[in-house]
Amino acid sequence: MQQIETAVIGGGIAGLALSLALVRKGHKVTLFEANGGAYQASVRNFGLIWPSGQKIGPMRQMALHSRELWIKAAREASFSINPNGSLYLAQTDTECDIINWYVQNDQEEDNPARILSPSEAQNLAPAVKPDHLKQALYYPSDACVQPVNACRQIEKYLSQHDMVDIQYFTKVLMVDGNRLITAREVYKADRIFVASGHFFKEWYPQLFETSKSRICKLHMMRTTEQPDGWALGPNLCGGLTLLHYPSFAEAPDIQNLHKEALDKWPDQMKHGIHVLIAQHHDGKITLGDSHHYESDVSPFDEEAVFNAIMEYTEHISQIPNLKLESRWQGVYAKSGDSLPIVERIDDYTTFVGALGGAGMTLSMGLADWVVNDSIPETLDLSGSRFSAPAESNP
Ligand SMILES: Cc1cc2nc3c(=O)[nH]c(=O)nc-3n(C[C@H](O)[C@H](O)[C@H](O)COP(=O)(O)OP(=O)(O)OC[C@H]3O[C@@H](n4cnc5c(N)ncnc54)[C@H](O)[C@@H]3O)c2cc1C
Repeated sequence: MQQIETAVIGGGIAGLALSLALVRKGHKVTLFEANGGAYQASVRNFGLIWPSGQKIGPMRQMALHSRELWIKAAREASFSINPNGSLYLAQTDTECDIINWYVQNDQEEDNPARILSPSEAQNLAPAVKPDHLKQALYYPSDACVQPVNACRQIEKYLSQHDMVDIQYFTKVLMVDGNRLITAREVYKADRIFVASGHFFKEWYPQLFETSKSRICKLHMMRTTEQPDGWALGPNLCGGLTLLHYPSFAEAPDIQNLHKEALDKWPDQMKHGIHVLIAQHHDGKITLGDSHHYESDVSPFDEEAVFNAIMEYTEHISQIPNLKLESRWQGVYAKSGDSLPIVERIDDYTTFVGALGGAGMTLSMGLADWVVNDSIPETLDLSGSRFSAPAESNP
């Protein structure tokens, strides 16, 4: 039996961020990954670091802290991060009401959001389609990384660190107290972090159920390079995105937008589509996505879904080259209240997961808070938050 100090199971962005936080604190880490590197959601996403989508309060704080740590990680591990901000394009009065409500609430932030006129939005981003555009919400603190590049560079940085041992192609078959069993070896660890992504469902089925977690499948695509160094500027999205992020959920007009969207965008609403547009340092544009909640994820991607994503993309933007290089699907686990789960399983093991659609945004900050035991008291991320309240005496 091999004795190790701290085991991290799962080499997606959550496991990588935990490993970074642990070595910064002086811990020795053994990272176990079933594949030859991050392979699941962490390399299949847009790479958007998107604090604008998090509710003001501890989750926004976590996302902004995460953004700072992403910048630090980019410096240490030599990958690029684009602090390009985001534009939410509003084409209807309801969408305008919601972004104006957002800006009013955002004023206490250090670098608050602001409303732009159509011409200001177009000056910032040539891809903004002027037709129907009424206003835009500009959030300056969103950012973007190329997810494959970022993961590979962090893996490289960690593999060269003398406090880290990475075991690739090593699936952990079982954790029993402080014993960790792989097909090759049995390890004894002082502390264990499980960051198993959507395999959460297999690892802790009971917690998956009580937390009302679900598995979501998303359709994604990437264009070939844009011509003549054409640059997108800020990340772009449209009004449908307002229906998807917690930061807009309490806007008084959100139900009206829901009704409006069902009427105007039935195919997009049927497939849970909202369009995000991100460009990476290689000039290619990543487009998506859809949301299908499935207990058994279908291996088949639907052409109708890609078409509906493309239709909305062309409605809000004018990108010179929409020739596709690739399409793929990604999967994540999301809890019933959409917040991550940090669950102390026993004296040795902590589960960190259910990062949903905000794992890139939150991972670095969440991992730092977990390792330094500094999750704000006002934020309950434990699985027990889903327990039914005790029955009161009659
Ligand atoms: C299409 C798509 C787009 C997204 N876009 C964004 C975005 O732009 N911004 C954003 O903030 N978030 C985004 N997300 C969400 C984000 O990608 C995820 O929340 C995040 O990547 C989850 O990271 P993770 O490390 O928890 O899981 P994963 O990336 O799934 O990693 C888990 C790892 O654990 C390994 N593993 C599991 N079980 C074992 C075992 N027994 N032994 C060894 N290894 C094991 C797996 O092989 C896997 O590599 C998107 C997600 C998808 C799918």
